[in-house]
Amino acid sequence: MPVNTPSKPYINHQSNSAETKASRRSVKRWLLPVLVGASSIGLLACGGAPDPAEQFNFSETPIAIAIHGGAGTITRESMSPEREAQFQAALEEALAAGYAVLETGGSSVDAVIAAIELMEENPLFNAGRGAVYTYDGTHELDASIMHGASREAGAIAGVTRIQNPIKAARAVMENSRHVLLSGTGAETFAREQDLAMVHNSYFNTEHRFEQLQRARENMQTNATLPAHEAYASANWDPAFNMGTVGAVALDVEGNIVAGTSTGGMTAKQYGRIGDSPIIGAGTWADNESCAVSATGHGEYFIRYQVAADICSRVKYLGESIEQAGAYVIHEVLMPVGGTGGVIILDAAGNVSMPFNTEGMYRGQKTSANGMEIGIYK
Ligand code: ASP
Repeated sequence: MPVNTPSKPYINHQSNSAETKASRRSVKRWLLPVLVGASSIGLLACGGAPDPAEQFNFSETPIAIAIHGGAGTITRESMSPEREAQFQAALEEALAAGYAVLETGGSSVDAVIAAIELMEENPLFNAGRGAVYTYDGTHELDASIMHGASREAGAIAGVTRIQNPIKAARAVMENSRHVLLSGTGAETFAREQDLAMVHNSYFNTEHRFEQLQRARENMQTNATLPAHEAYASANWDPAFNMGTVGAVALDVEGNIVAGTSTGGMTAKQYGRIGDSPIIGAGTWADNESCAVSATGHGEYFIRYQVAADICSRVKYLGESIEQAGAYVIHEVLMPVGGTGGVIILDAAGNVSMPFNTEGMYRGQKTSANGMEIGIYK
């Protein structure tokens, strides 16, 4: 049975000073080569392969991953036991994949990619394979990733042929001079990076097509109207957008990373870009404050710079991630009608997952608290 995430104890970020973190880091940097050296000597003496997990003392080096699979009108009453079990399994699988990377000393970038890639391949989620339809009946996908140590970031927007958008976002971050590539240019870049390309129909699914039809009906529009006019009369139902995915992770080096991937909003107008590929809106990471991935009505998340705003409160006001997230989601977004939620992680391994909708698919796995999955309020 999914459980709601219990609230985490208040952490005073002031006491987790930069100096303390720096000295912890330098001990770790010094310790790792010694441990690796010692295990190599052991390897020569015994002839066995070292277990990477044994090289780290995880009780002193927190690792953590948190994920979301979209926020919206998700209620116990509207959810069948079968569907609930499917989401539970998918979230567990993604968390396990990301955590396995961290547990063996892998980077938070690799952990975020591992978790998001699995969710992109699962048609349950509105990302990759299960992306929603545009008004015109196609799929346009957005994704981004940001590294909290270097503040490097990569994003792609409005792409139609890249199988795993999160991998393309990573390639932009690591192998290009730019932060955000869009449309056919992003696709050319992805092809040059040897990423898997697919026909747009690869993203076709029956359940998303039904949602498009319902959304079009909701828009109460005359089928003969051009899309922009239909849009003007749009009565958008956020229930049709659910399933954007995101992950935040903390590795043994103390680096936090955030990533987000989405098909956007059902029946979106041609060329519409949401918050997910916008650094500061849908994704943000800074080792000195927090890592955030958002899901919800993207236009509001862009206008209120939600992900960066939360981390700025942590950084400049000294709020805990719990306080900062709750304030922005409930006190800033809610009054103006901005629906959605975020997952937040700091460099000490604390996790907070506030949302102002009926539910949000979410989960976390940390060295401190193990695995927790939540769906409803
Ligand atoms: N934030 C996404 C967008 O606006 C949609 C979602 O998270 O449901 O594109």
